[in-house]
Amino acid sequence: MKAAVVRENPDGFVDLVEDWQPRDLSFGEALVDVEYCGICHTDLHVAKGDFGNPNELNARPGYRRVIGHEGIGVVTKLGEGASDYLKVGDRVSIAWFYSACGDCDYCISGNETFCRKVLNAGYTVDGAMAQQVVVDAKYAVKVPEGLDPMEASSLTCAGVTMYKALKVGETKPGQWVSVVGAGGLGNLAIQYAHNVFGAHVVAVDGNPDKLAAAKEMGAELLVNRKTEDVPAVIQETVGGVHNAQVTAVNTQAFDQSIASLRPMGKLVAVALPQGDMELNVVKTVLDGIEVKGSLVGTREDLKEAFQFGAEGKVTPLVQRADFRDINDVIEAMHRNQITGRMVIDFTAL
Ligand SMILES: [Zn+2]
Ligand SMILES: [Zn+2]
Repeated sequence: MKAAVVRENPDGFVDLVEDWQPRDLSFGEALVDVEYCGICHTDLHVAKGDFGNPNELNARPGYRRVIGHEGIGVVTKLGEGASDYLKVGDRVSIAWFYSACGDCDYCISGNETFCRKVLNAGYTVDGAMAQQVVVDAKYAVKVPEGLDPMEASSLTCAGVTMYKALKVGETKPGQWVSVVGAGGLGNLAIQYAHNVFGAHVVAVDGNPDKLAAAKEMGAELLVNRKTEDVPAVIQETVGGVHNAQVTAVNTQAFDQSIASLRPMGKLVAVALPQGDMELNVVKTVLDGIEVKGSLVGTREDLKEAFQFGAEGKVTPLVQRADFRDINDVIEAMHRNQITGRMVIDFTAL
């Protein structure tokens, strides 16, 4: 089997191996033939060892960690007990949220992504950047009919992340939402906010092309952070936003977003820049603002995010790439040369 694995000394790139074998199926697991797998910035962090050396986590002797958490594939074999959840031929997703314990307070209260025993595909367990991947049948979310599998790969990560973040922001029809950073995450945030939640969208970015694309997707107010005073424009034009979705990887975007909130507004932190945000205590108290973090989404969130994709309300921007070119794609991602998501096509192998 072909697979992309983390290098022995993780350096941000991967080794392409030919003789990889998936592990044997345990109770409740299923084998999936991978069709597509997107490459995400999180994969780049994993491959660089930024979260620790993934080859040493739950290691199998002689094997290195397979990356990939934006996978889509078809079930080809069921382990004992898996038939309660899946059947052969089902199309399923392999997401960053791979599985959890199922019993703790977080798991039973609808917050399973915060389970302390969570496993992450392509990091603490082998991921989907391989011709085959083992899934936990209970946790693999089915892809609905009518949703293109290549587009589904992008909804598995960026799509569900933003759909969930808009829920965390308690977005309601007619409200104003700012999407700060109009890249891969922001693009999907705008579509979900406008087409699913019925909100008005302010797009904030420093790149005029990205702002023009944001307008196409339904953003009504565009603010260029390089040439305009972001909070002033938002406060003067719409009276501040009900929630700010921060996908830009710089702490200044967080500070500006706090200042862009209306009273009782909510800042939803999605991006992970190093550093701190400035939070004025008086404003927090007098305006009753809230700051919330949002981390990927649960199985139920992903099911819903997929369904809106299948209904044509949300369309991710994806480009097909060849398995042999993964390291070139990684290089291009580092140079910020990619628009939309590069998706490795395993059906072509
Ligand atoms: Zn991802
Ligand atoms: Zn749990």
